[in-house]
Amino acid sequence: MGGAPASGRSAWERDAAADTLPRMPRRPPLPDVPDRSVGLCSACFHAAVQRSAKGGAFWRCRAADTGRTQLRYPPLPVVHCKAFEEGTPEA
Ligand code: SF4
Repeated sequence: MGGAPASGRSAWERDAAADTLPRMPRRPPLPDVPDRSVGLCSACFHAAVQRSAKGGAFWRCRAADTGRTQLRYPPLPVVHCKAFEEGTPEA
């Protein structure tokens, strides 16, 4: 006859529930930074703020110039960065 057992879940559903993907580690909280919308770059020695003619601000990573990071303009907010060095961003 087959069908779902009395518990309401089929063997396949039980296996699928038991075989869940490992959970991603929780993201650590962002440390105290001057601008949470920017993240670590707002407190990093390697950051440089570039202003556009229209008044926009672009956060450039100067560590990318020497290959210490991959992205010259990292997506913000930056919450993890191996090249982070506490300091004042270049204005
Ligand atoms: S080294 Fe990391 S934290 Fe510093 S400016 Fe570059 S991306 Fe931002």
